[in-house]
Amino acid sequence: MKKRKGQCLCGNVRYEVAGKPTFPHLCSCRMCQLWSGAPSVAWVEFPIDQIEWTGPAGEPAFYQSSEKTQRGFCRNCGSTICAIDEGYDKISLTMTSLEAPSAIVPGKQHSFAREAPSWWSVAVKRQPTTRM
Ligand SMILES: [Zn+2]
Ligand SMILES: [Zn+2]
Repeated sequence: MKKRKGQCLCGNVRYEVAGKPTFPHLCSCRMCQLWSGAPSVAWVEFPIDQIEWTGPAGEPAFYQSSEKTQRGFCRNCGSTICAIDEGYDKISLTMTSLEAPSAIVPGKQHSFAREAPSWWSVAVKRQPTTRM
């Protein structure tokens, strides 16, 4: 099965993930903005049992951002890596932490688009660069 790699800025948190990527989408909710420092976060889900933490830090540190959601980040450099919802069999990875951030293209879903800063607009190029 195809394995994809990803990492944080400093490289202490690294992962390999297999399985089918699902629900690639953008989110501009205020929590994603504050967590990432960016106007939108691009997310993609993988089966949670397919993630392997391969860097020296092991798994990322987690911040409980809401009752059911934990957001994973690198304790050393602060990179935003993933989110895990309690009781859900998927892990959401930040698409930009992937080694090949162009390989998966966000779908039409832009969650909380109206919470994005008013100066921000997103134009996702949907030419067939997708290599699922
Ligand atoms: Zn790091
Ligand atoms: Zn969000």
